[in-house]
Amino acid sequence: VQLEKKTKGKLQKQICQVVLEHFEKQYTAELGDAWSSVRDVLTSPWCWQHALLLNRFSWSPGLESSLAEQGYQPAFPAALPYLPAAFRCYSRPAPGRFPAQKHQPGRLKDYYLLNAASLLPVLALEVEHGEDVLDLCAAPGGKAVAILQCACPGHFHCNEYDDLRSRWLEQTIESFIPDPLINLIRVSKLDGRQIGDLQPEFYDKVLVDAPCSNDRSWLFSADPQQALLRLMQRKELSSLQFQLLRSAVKALRPGGSLVYSTCTLSKAENSDVINLVLNSCRNVMPVDISGMARGVSQEFSFLSGMQQHELLVLPERGRAWGPMYVAKLKKVS
Ligand code: SAM
Repeated sequence: VQLEKKTKGKLQKQICQVVLEHFEKQYTAELGDAWSSVRDVLTSPWCWQHALLLNRFSWSPGLESSLAEQGYQPAFPAALPYLPAAFRCYSRPAPGRFPAQKHQPGRLKDYYLLNAASLLPVLALEVEHGEDVLDLCAAPGGKAVAILQCACPGHFHCNEYDDLRSRWLEQTIESFIPDPLINLIRVSKLDGRQIGDLQPEFYDKVLVDAPCSNDRSWLFSADPQQALLRLMQRKELSSLQFQLLRSAVKALRPGGSLVYSTCTLSKAENSDVINLVLNSCRNVMPVDISGMARGVSQEFSFLSGMQQHELLVLPERGRAWGPMYVAKLKKVS
């Protein structure tokens, strides 16, 4: 309680009422009773948590004992066989933030701070050594770093359309990945919708961590007019997401698979987009990820009633991870 009061004082962000009212209507209809506890977490930044993904390429001797002293414990203990031994992530039920490390040219960072739910798309992708991998919407690079903690791809193509964010992505890669592994990584600044035509049937795995309505940050929009405009343009996001997915399907080799993820609760940007792909691309099949979801069910709270190829992480107090939607598809021919 003491910590909550202290952190609450520091995090007096203003909730944007227009967005909250909109979410209230939409998510009450879509999530039913589950929405009120999700709303409680999303509107209480002082109870948000962070996890640390340790960098297997930069081992810092005192780090793990210092984490243990501060109440951090290894996350995902039961998630094997989805995780290699080198993959180490720490979290704690208490809120608060471990200090971020500054970028220092020529020096690798020891850990990446993230919302633990953002590791789920990476676990679902199950990258194996030597596979050719495309991260279609990669900046700032958290999931790219996580992929490289799991395996060493043959080629790793990280793409980001936005110029500024692409530079941020390059900086992240430089900060976490050493020579000579860094030479396997290609960073491009393409519109992800074109990559399927530019490199058809080239990749074994594609991650589509799509641009979406970011529920957490939209709730704290500083400018209500701009927030309203964003809400009105929400439909365009579903169309962009569908086009990115179609491009990802083209870029996959037959037998390859893709993972789609967003950090919104919105059905229109999640299940509806995936259903549209399944209904319009005959060579695509859903892949069951319910085993993985069971493996991490201690750490995350999921919306019940989802299909086996998808999951939706609902933030709750003490497990304030998400929102995160994940779906997995396979290209059969
Ligand atoms: N995967 C990233 C990570 O884990 O750090 C986060 C990706 S973020 C959810 C989505 C990204 O997609 C944004 O950086 C956005 O600039 C980028 N984006 C938007 N439109 C795009 C497009 N047409 N092609 C490729 N990337 C795009």
